[in-house]
Amino acid sequence: MDNYKYKRVLLKLSGEALMGSKDFGIDPEVPRLIAKAIKPAYDAGVQIAIVVGGGNIFRGLSGAAAGMDRAQGDNMGMLATVINSLALQDTFEHSGMMCRVMSAIEMHQVSETYIRRRAIRHLEKGRITIFAAGTGNPYFTTDTAAALRACEIGAEVLMKATKVDGIYDSDPVKNPDAKRFESISYMEVLNRGLQVMDATATALCHDNHMPIMVFDLLGDDVFDRALRGESVGTTVVDE
Ligand code: UDP
Repeated sequence: MDNYKYKRVLLKLSGEALMGSKDFGIDPEVPRLIAKAIKPAYDAGVQIAIVVGGGNIFRGLSGAAAGMDRAQGDNMGMLATVINSLALQDTFEHSGMMCRVMSAIEMHQVSETYIRRRAIRHLEKGRITIFAAGTGNPYFTTDTAAALRACEIGAEVLMKATKVDGIYDSDPVKNPDAKRFESISYMEVLNRGLQVMDATATALCHDNHMPIMVFDLLGDDVFDRALRGESVGTTVVDE
């Protein structure tokens, strides 16, 4: 544990990442790769909280674009995050990691309800704790849920796993000359309109001095190296 700089972290996974090479839903190989990436830190005693998105199943905005009531669509999106959370829990437990799912929307039969103090207790007992159903409110995103929960549980850093290995000044997929930032301020992220997290989530982190680390979780040993304090990806910090 002494090798690790961070003892309690919140990891944000996008729902889309769970699709892997599929067009929809969950490619079971991806939760397995995620489990493999976090296992060394789990075994060492790092307290790991997770928020997962639901974009691989449903997004409220797409529903609204198709004529659906926005709040109704968002409720569906939040339920999608519960499906993803249960899938991750199953894989983690099969990989020998204790895991609890806590939902922001009450659903006793499938998960615990989110209670901040109980969540902290789970983490202290070494259980991976997955926060499902976003913030429990429509018109928010799971990035904002991740920022909120990270602040609530006293995480030292919010780690956002993405498909690219950090934040670039332009889209590295479209522009081969795109430059990666090693560190950048919250204000610059907001002013440049960089697509790191939505503005609400970024502002919440800014106001509460919650550092955001952006990296490719499935890169070589990256999660572990980030936890040991190595500079991987991009860190968003105070100016
Ligand atoms: N959502 C919501 N409130 C929240 C979090 C999420 O209404 O606090 C809904 C919203 O419709 C969103 C969907 O859940 O589109 C899935 O979450 P998100 O789009 O953040 O997932 P990701 O992009 O990470 O896959």
